[in-house]
Amino acid sequence: MYEIVLSGPLTEFSDYNLNAFIAFAAGFPSKIIPRRLLRRHLYPPTEYDERGVVKFAPYGLRKIETILQDEFGEDKVATIFPEKLPEVINEKTKVVGLTLHDPLGLAYVSTTYSSLVGFGSVPITAMETKIFFDMLKKLKKRYGFKVIAGGVGAWQIADMNLQDEMMIDTIVIGDGEEIAADLFKKALKGEKLPRVVKAITKDMDKVPTIRRPVLYGAVEITRGCGKGCAFCAATMRKRYSFPMDKIMKEVEINARNGTKMIMLVTEDIFLYQSLPGFKPNREALEKLIKRIASTPGIEYVQVTHSSWPAVVYDPKALEVISPILYEKTFWEIRGKRYIGAIIGIESGSVRLMTKYMRGKAKPLSIEKWPEIVVEGVGIYNDNQWYPGGTIILGMPGETEDDALRTLELVDDLKDYMVVLIPLLFVPITGALLQNASRVSLKNLGEVYWEIIWKCWRHNMVKFAPEYERKVRAVVPFVLPYYLYYHGRYGVRALLGLSGLLKENGWKT
Ligand code: SF4
Repeated sequence: MYEIVLSGPLTEFSDYNLNAFIAFAAGFPSKIIPRRLLRRHLYPPTEYDERGVVKFAPYGLRKIETILQDEFGEDKVATIFPEKLPEVINEKTKVVGLTLHDPLGLAYVSTTYSSLVGFGSVPITAMETKIFFDMLKKLKKRYGFKVIAGGVGAWQIADMNLQDEMMIDTIVIGDGEEIAADLFKKALKGEKLPRVVKAITKDMDKVPTIRRPVLYGAVEITRGCGKGCAFCAATMRKRYSFPMDKIMKEVEINARNGTKMIMLVTEDIFLYQSLPGFKPNREALEKLIKRIASTPGIEYVQVTHSSWPAVVYDPKALEVISPILYEKTFWEIRGKRYIGAIIGIESGSVRLMTKYMRGKAKPLSIEKWPEIVVEGVGIYNDNQWYPGGTIILGMPGETEDDALRTLELVDDLKDYMVVLIPLLFVPITGALLQNASRVSLKNLGEVYWEIIWKCWRHNMVKFAPEYERKVRAVVPFVLPYYLYYHGRYGVRALLGLSGLLKENGWKT
């Protein structure tokens, strides 16, 4: 049996039917849909064998598994499906390593949409984390193993002072590649472990190439960014493009093992081998995407993130990769295929962008940020991309005038195919603004409610007009509950909604 067992909550062990963007719904409130249905339809379990060993692991955990197997041997380390842990863990288990993506529901989507439509319930991710830890704590009391927790959301446990309650010995915040082997070695020897370890991988040769497949066929093509946005932790990592050979090895491992999709993990696809000044390297990008798309067995190639300034600066860079990505796209709406990616709009206020995100517009100037966003969306649409654009509400020091500039930008985007995703500001550990205050819906003025309603009205009109009548029918029944649960700021939301619905010809 395994001395080192790797696992995590159930929401981490699903490919969400290959729909990475629906995975965001795991940040939605837990009480709206019964868990039984969520488990069957939103996060169906990934495959695992009779020993509980998963076929496709979360990407970050697979990297750590590779390091630990190199260090301690393949027979000593395995990634186990969470619900199989009671059958796998026993007195031989010395360490359990966990990946936590959004354990307490404090990330952007969960914070925003659970407080907005939560009706008093915690996000789905937090519900699953609680169920997972209730089980793990019983096992730990019985067998006494050490628990080491990492992953992009591990900071939430330290922030909320829940480490002891969750019986976690060490929380790793940041990257695990350079510290995992030593940390697990100490744990195996029964030595005292540090409570919290903060680490950023500096030597990229320490990032291993996976040997087994991962969920979504994820393959990291770049790490870090360097544009310096104050709310973002990625900027603290040096910008780095992984070598083509390493990328292709991971693509092939996934393809050979039956993954239909390759998801290119990056903060911005145009950072791949980018030229000085954040200028896109269209030749390198085209070569990479062509090679990945022509790998036998790969039906879909998906990009996680992209950017506006790169395509405004060099529209040709988008033109050369779009036909290849269009051929391999997963996305379709009303019979029309399109390419998707998440791109940060952040704010329409040049003042705020200059204060916190001066580098975001590179290789162009931040002074023209709203124009760059509008022109960028147009260029993406011309190349069959319908991006998701995130907007941050309530950044520290944001004034009503800043919010009005964002509202203007939302208005300027009304004719474009872009999903507008308003999110509440979250001070993420590791970002420059990590000590700023969290923003609450209660503190948002009416202009913010108008932004939220306008964004979602836009999304419905552009992407799901067939649901408009159904939503109109449901709204009068939902609103009284909304007011009940949300009190005073529910009234504000109602006023904002009512004005907006009237303005758009809706009777309320
Ligand atoms: S451009 Fe994006 S990834 Fe880069 S620092 Fe800004 S928010 Fe982070």
